[in-house]
Amino acid sequence: MKKFSALSALFFVSFNLSSEIKQLNFLYTNDLHAHLQPHIEQWISKTRPVGGFANLATLIKEEKSTNPNTLYIDAGDYFSGPYISTLTEGEAVIDTMNLLGVDAACIGNHEFDHGWESMLDKFEMATFPIINGNIFYEGTDELIWDNPYVILESNGLKIGVIGLHGKFAFYDTTNFKMVDGLEARDEEYYLRKYIKELEPITDLIVLSVHEGVPGRQSTKGLSDVERTLSKDIDLAKNVPGVDIMITGHAHKGTPEALLSNKTIIVSTNAYSIELGKLVVSYDTEKKQIVDYSNELITIFDDEIEDDPEMSKVIDYWESQVQKIALKEVSFTTDKMVRAYGEESNMGNLFADAAEEYDEKIDFAVINSGALRQDLDPGVLTKGDLISAFPFPNTLVMTKITGAQIEGLFNHAAGMTNGVLQVSKSFKYVIDSNGEIVELRLNGKPINRKKTYWVASTNFVTLGGDGYWEFTESIEYEDTNIFIVDVVEDYLKDKPRYSPVYEERIVIE
Ligand code: FE
Repeated sequence: MKKFSALSALFFVSFNLSSEIKQLNFLYTNDLHAHLQPHIEQWISKTRPVGGFANLATLIKEEKSTNPNTLYIDAGDYFSGPYISTLTEGEAVIDTMNLLGVDAACIGNHEFDHGWESMLDKFEMATFPIINGNIFYEGTDELIWDNPYVILESNGLKIGVIGLHGKFAFYDTTNFKMVDGLEARDEEYYLRKYIKELEPITDLIVLSVHEGVPGRQSTKGLSDVERTLSKDIDLAKNVPGVDIMITGHAHKGTPEALLSNKTIIVSTNAYSIELGKLVVSYDTEKKQIVDYSNELITIFDDEIEDDPEMSKVIDYWESQVQKIALKEVSFTTDKMVRAYGEESNMGNLFADAAEEYDEKIDFAVINSGALRQDLDPGVLTKGDLISAFPFPNTLVMTKITGAQIEGLFNHAAGMTNGVLQVSKSFKYVIDSNGEIVELRLNGKPINRKKTYWVASTNFVTLGGDGYWEFTESIEYEDTNIFIVDVVEDYLKDKPRYSPVYEERIVIE
């Protein structure tokens, strides 16, 4: 909040002519994750598809034409979801976002999924401002994307919009191979710096930030909003001066806006399910927001007309990737679903495929967060496998000790990044206190002093999702083969695959 001059204060007291309440509308999204098409989101409706960019475009256009004082801001992770993003390395996403009327979007961890060079190429194609102020070329003061903030105008007010990425979230959830040569720096320091630069020249400060804990990847939701957004609440406490914080990464919507240290915090539940709408009343005399209301507008496909221009562009990109995406791989007799806090039949498939890749592998683990989309019974295409596992992660074989395996599973049991899905030779038990009480390979307890060959993705074995023990492996062999290809190969001689649950993970 800025102080107004003594002269203007006197003016207000004497005449009070300049006091005016101005309304501003902020539309927001986060973690769109390339959900260009409407889809079923079990916890919202089992029959009515939600989301999709053609619906989103219609809604944003309507909002902007009804109220010209409307800004639309996104909080990152627009890449990686359905195969269309993976197969175009995000290009289809940027191309369609160019039609969404985005006024500013920050960078999320998944924008780096195809490597930072590829990301910058795609960003060059964006016609909307992308903002980030704390990711640098390692050891330099050069931002990788030299646009820490934008100043937007709405209803005669100047609004500074800062873009940041949480340092913890960056090192927790980017693939280190893909961000080699970059470094994320303390977001609080840079937030203070940019606020200082913007305060004298703007009326309001908005932060678009991607930080905190990653979204749970499963069909089940998580209801505790404040706990999930605690990083954002703390940031607002530690750094005063942000009027509105639009946040992403946690995939946790705020039906009610949170308030922390006078900062209004909002977010959506990801996947283009909702459009957030925050309406604020700004008092030009007090120079602050004096009232606000917030809602999450669920985007039901059957209630909104497709934006024709957007539909055309989506169709174009779908046609570009069809040749690979529609290739038939197998047939699944049952639905394959993900889970974050327990065994999943999809996790079992991916882990089994990894274990079978090489004879020397004792067992394989897959991080639950890598699995992004449930698959219906019926024909399994390459596109389905890519949508289920959209990352160009490769299969890595590591030789590690039993003690290190214990460390890995202790982290898995903590649930901050979800449990580790395991292959058929392995079983583990978590007790009611969240402690590991049993780790077994082919029925025998893991020996802390022995060594084992454990396979996983290059993301996890480089320390991703907090699995740091892998970085101290005795031997490390990257096969350079994509996980999706490993699974495709595994299914080759299985024209009918039956997903399994085998009590590989027991939670007491
Ligand atoms: Fe994220």
